[in-house]
Amino acid sequence: MKEAKFIWKDGKLIPWAEATTHVLSHTLHYGNAAFEGTRAYMTQKGLAIFRLKDHTKRLLDSCKITAIKCPYSQEELEKAQIELLKANQDIFKGNVYIRPLVYLGYGVMGIDHRKAPVNVAIAAWEWGAYLGEEGLLEGIKVKTSSFVRSSVKSTMGKAKISANYLNSQMAKYEALECGFEEALLLDDNGFVAEGSGECFFIVRNGKLITPPSDNALESITQATVIELANDLGLEVERRRITRDEVYICDEAFFTGTAAEITPIKSLDFRQIGDGKRGEVTKRLQENFFEIVLGKNSKYSHYLTYIS
Ligand code: PMP
Repeated sequence: MKEAKFIWKDGKLIPWAEATTHVLSHTLHYGNAAFEGTRAYMTQKGLAIFRLKDHTKRLLDSCKITAIKCPYSQEELEKAQIELLKANQDIFKGNVYIRPLVYLGYGVMGIDHRKAPVNVAIAAWEWGAYLGEEGLLEGIKVKTSSFVRSSVKSTMGKAKISANYLNSQMAKYEALECGFEEALLLDDNGFVAEGSGECFFIVRNGKLITPPSDNALESITQATVIELANDLGLEVERRRITRDEVYICDEAFFTGTAAEITPIKSLDFRQIGDGKRGEVTKRLQENFFEIVLGKNSKYSHYLTYIS
């Protein structure tokens, strides 16, 4: 990874290499930590964080869900992310990924987490296309996972929390080892839920279809794409999708902060559409990048400029 100079930890900027934690940190053992993934884009007016408020709100919501008392307010956390980007600004040449993490530190062991200290770290580094530049242009090969998206009967899918990502990690591992680039997870009723770190859309007869958020993270990129699609006069339907409907759709793509809008060229060896990025996906992608790069004034309220 591309290291930056500073990491914000518990209220202070410290050198990247010093942002370490004790091996007996509670989160390392029991997996309770809330985190975010936010992007800052290199616009013509310098770095701008995309939807900072929404990501920070989701971070605090995740803390609430998992009963972690975050010692910082929404405003303090937003300021910290801006401060961090300012401090690292001179070495950032391209788009940046921001990773705030609210975790349980050193001091108590055992499952009861109530007395564990809460630490907050925010790192930011330069990060290009998550599923590859080629993936953005040509599309990726996807496999329906043998792992079911964790059921809402036993996990809390509105929270972006570390423990939820074991399931994602195993699904991703399986997909990669089988020669695919990403996994598509079904819910416990067999309907499409989401990718290992993305939401999912198909296009049929010019209409966008994406599942409701009950078995997927409430995604900020998915919301942006729906808003954009409405603007472009595209119809959007939120309903359940079966895996065989994906096989016969015209286009499919993943959305996520890291994945942005990544076209899907095949699922389980069935070519989707023409087996490359479709026209609707391309149009959405182009418009999405205009928004995040500050070239569409209607969406400028989503950007927080750093300098
Ligand atoms: N689902 C999962 C499991 C994710 O990890 C992510 C990435 N945060 C998403 C969906 C997409 O969410 P967002 O668009 O808010 O990044």
